[in-house]
Amino acid sequence: MGRSRYRYESGFIQGAKSAAARCILKFQAEAPIVKFCVLASGSSGNAALLATENTRILVDAGLSMRELAKRLASIGEELERLDAILITHEHTDHVSGLPVLARSKKVRAAIHMTHLTAPAIDWGGHDPRLEAFQAGASLRIGDIDVQSFTIPHDARDPVGYAFESQGVRIAIATDLGYLPESVKFHLRRSDLLLLEANHDLDMLKVGPYPWSVKQRVMSRVGHLSNLVMSDYVQQDLDSRTSQLVLGHLSEQNNHPAIVGMMATQALEGRGLSTRFSIASQHTPSAVFQF
Ligand SMILES: [Zn+2]
Ligand SMILES: [Zn+2]
Repeated sequence: MGRSRYRYESGFIQGAKSAAARCILKFQAEAPIVKFCVLASGSSGNAALLATENTRILVDAGLSMRELAKRLASIGEELERLDAILITHEHTDHVSGLPVLARSKKVRAAIHMTHLTAPAIDWGGHDPRLEAFQAGASLRIGDIDVQSFTIPHDARDPVGYAFESQGVRIAIATDLGYLPESVKFHLRRSDLLLLEANHDLDMLKVGPYPWSVKQRVMSRVGHLSNLVMSDYVQQDLDSRTSQLVLGHLSEQNNHPAIVGMMATQALEGRGLSTRFSIASQHTPSAVFQF
């Protein structure tokens, strides 16, 4: 991390009886360098906000404009203040709100996605102004360095992102069938990692999906199982990662309690003090600050 997060200040409590009680150490937090919040995660809609003091990036727009505005407002942010919208891939749960945002006069954010992703989205006859890039490209948005990387998923040209600003690194990898070395490479050195924990294999197998859909979810271009997530945590998670956020949980084929149990076991197995939290479909996560 670029600088220490806290500074000590000595101070005095007025009217305190003893000298010891008078002398205290005030723990004063500095303004955070980077804030991150998962606004929604799952097959009904995905969006996350990453913000520094000067730059605000929305990752995916899989909520209606109205719902997005509501969830941003709940963490003290506004659509109007977004500098950029970055899209991971064209599946509806990641772009359902995008055509409306792209048309809105209120939104001044530049929309970034790969060259191949743009034509796969139904823009409703509108010709949006886009900043298209090649998967694997690095971008600079305000004071945030963005690295895109290809992920294995059944979309046209899907990518994950790693963000870095003033020494704080945040990586996002959801919607991927497995974790190739090339993806693991980009997840290293992250202070916060948003990683997919989509399904419990046993629940998926006996669950309500037709067999063809089950095969798709389990395939190498589908979604990450709890087991793959927990293997990754046990074997590969960087000890620098202080906050793990598990997301894109299936509502049919997973349960937060199972994900929580597996993450706890995996972290204890590694002896890591990494905190974890589970992102929800219905409410924004905590605002993580670095
Ligand atoms: Zn998705
Ligand atoms: Zn997807």
